[in-house]
Amino acid sequence: MKSPKKIVYGGIDAGGTSFKCVLADESRNIIAQTDVPTTTPQYTLAQCIEFFKSAVTTSTIEALGIASFGPLDIDPNSGAYGTYLPGPKSGWAGVNLYSAFKDALGIPVAIDTDVNGALLAELAWGNAKGYTSAAYVTIGTGIGAGILCAGQLVGKPAHPEFGHIRVERHPDDLDFKGVCSVHGACLEGLASGPSLHARFGDPEKLARDHKAWDMLAFYLAQACVSLALSFRPQAIILGGGVLQTKHVLPKIKRQYANQINAYLGQTEDDIDRLIIPPKLGRNAGIWGGIYLAQNIGYK
Ligand code: ZN
Repeated sequence: MKSPKKIVYGGIDAGGTSFKCVLADESRNIIAQTDVPTTTPQYTLAQCIEFFKSAVTTSTIEALGIASFGPLDIDPNSGAYGTYLPGPKSGWAGVNLYSAFKDALGIPVAIDTDVNGALLAELAWGNAKGYTSAAYVTIGTGIGAGILCAGQLVGKPAHPEFGHIRVERHPDDLDFKGVCSVHGACLEGLASGPSLHARFGDPEKLARDHKAWDMLAFYLAQACVSLALSFRPQAIILGGGVLQTKHVLPKIKRQYANQINAYLGQTEDDIDRLIIPPKLGRNAGIWGGIYLAQNIGYK
């Protein structure tokens, strides 16, 4: 007797450093995965397509979901759906992710931002399960935020560009120009991984008591205050490579308490519940891709 066809979904966490590709079944068991370095669009997309073509031997892929860095067109009704817009990542503007994968694989493809994807995954399976208002902020090569407010993703059919808001300078950081190629000293320009690297060297090698972490906390707390005041989220999930250093989270909470100055009447416990790490850790983006694949048509 022929066994029933196994349903398999493809997911990509398209980041500034690598495209993480995964194949998973309906119950989120990983069948295959690979990391493709983000170099030129030609190289990176070809390697990803090759992975999905060669990884599937016994099943066909039901759908592919891509949670990507931005800015890009995420409006399914737009003729440019899946196309990167001009932004800090040089060489990628004008590249159409949707048609590249749709044409090569011949399956339904859904695309959203990396942070919207990660937020949807945390809402479905992670630390924001059951919430109707929440934000997911990634702090890595770049900074971005996905925001759900009263059950709706903010910014649709486009997406927020929260990483590029202006922030108040830390008093010991007045001379640094910032690393955002567009704005210099925006939030991303002052608090992303590359911005830490530019001032202090490899963030992974910095001591826990290095002043870099206080500076980072000062900026990220401002981001949390802006999110809390604008959208009143039940949770602000802080993810991304830079925040794998867990000792930064308590510093951010302390700075948040200082900056907001009890304006919303939050207790220490409230702030503990508000500013949290992702349950899905570094895989939040990948599961975002899988969520998009499983929910084709989600808007
Ligand atoms: Zn910027």
